[in-house]
Amino acid sequence: MRIIKTNFLERVKLTETVESFRFQPDEPVSFVPGQFSRIMFDPVNQDNKDLNKYLSFSASPSKGYLEFTKRLSLSDFSRRLQDLKPGQEVSLSAPLGNCVLKPEYKKIAFVIGGIGITPVMSMLEYMNENKAGVDAALFYSNRLEEDIAFKSRIDFLVKNLSGLKVVYNVTGCQPKSADCFFGMINKDFLSSQLSDWDQREVFIFGPPKMVEAMKAVCLEAGCSRDNLKTEGFVGY
Ligand SMILES: Cc1cc2nc3c(=O)[nH]c(=O)nc-3n(C[C@H](O)[C@H](O)[C@H](O)COP(=O)(O)OP(=O)(O)OC[C@H]3O[C@@H](n4cnc5c(N)ncnc54)[C@H](O)[C@@H]3O)c2cc1C
Repeated sequence: MRIIKTNFLERVKLTETVESFRFQPDEPVSFVPGQFSRIMFDPVNQDNKDLNKYLSFSASPSKGYLEFTKRLSLSDFSRRLQDLKPGQEVSLSAPLGNCVLKPEYKKIAFVIGGIGITPVMSMLEYMNENKAGVDAALFYSNRLEEDIAFKSRIDFLVKNLSGLKVVYNVTGCQPKSADCFFGMINKDFLSSQLSDWDQREVFIFGPPKMVEAMKAVCLEAGCSRDNLKTEGFVGY
């Protein structure tokens, strides 16, 4: 497996439990928005699943750095990330994954649970830079309003990327802001927000159980099975 050497640059706190980590690669790395990499704290023993984990690229490929965003836990991997010092060397795998943005996708919907937002950030930032005339809708579900990662970056994109509609919802308790819905995403909710589910490419990212539930809901709302693109973030 090709290994990319990087140096840790900085971390950015997004919510109480979610942080972004930025790395400078030794050589240019090209990836397609939607892809992920394996961050390896034990590159010698590649079977070490505790210290080598998959994280999605969470910023546009045009940035001068590689960004990953992790929902932090008490795991050894999370601790290694939090203990990184600027300049420290970290190994990554070459970019992986086929659940990516393609130029022919003109009508898109993203149905996202929690930390599943990471690859979507890379896709939306890429669309904004290329002003590709995309019609995209993001349904972004969290437990609480405080858990909404990337809120300011998403609100910036809504102002700048015409054709982007964002719908926030929370399931844990009644939200304070008027632009956030309360309750689980179901067929009626999706149908009330968009009437053309049958014409959209639909990306579903999040914890595996959420992905399975949302697949069924999107099919009920009229989405074509051939247009569904899903990635379960195994480990949650
Ligand atoms: C394609 C892909 C992209 C991902 N992108 C992101 C991302 O951008 N941000 C992010 O935070 N997470 C992402 N994940 C999940 C990430 O790889 C970790 O599994 C997750 O962050 C949990 O790691 P942890 O060290 O916090 O938890 P741990 O405490 O190590 O794990 C939590 C629980 O999950 C189990 N588990 C962990 N890994 C696996 C596994 N591979 N298979 C089965 N069970 C497992 C553990 O046994 C434990 O019970 C992605 C996963 C995949 C597959």
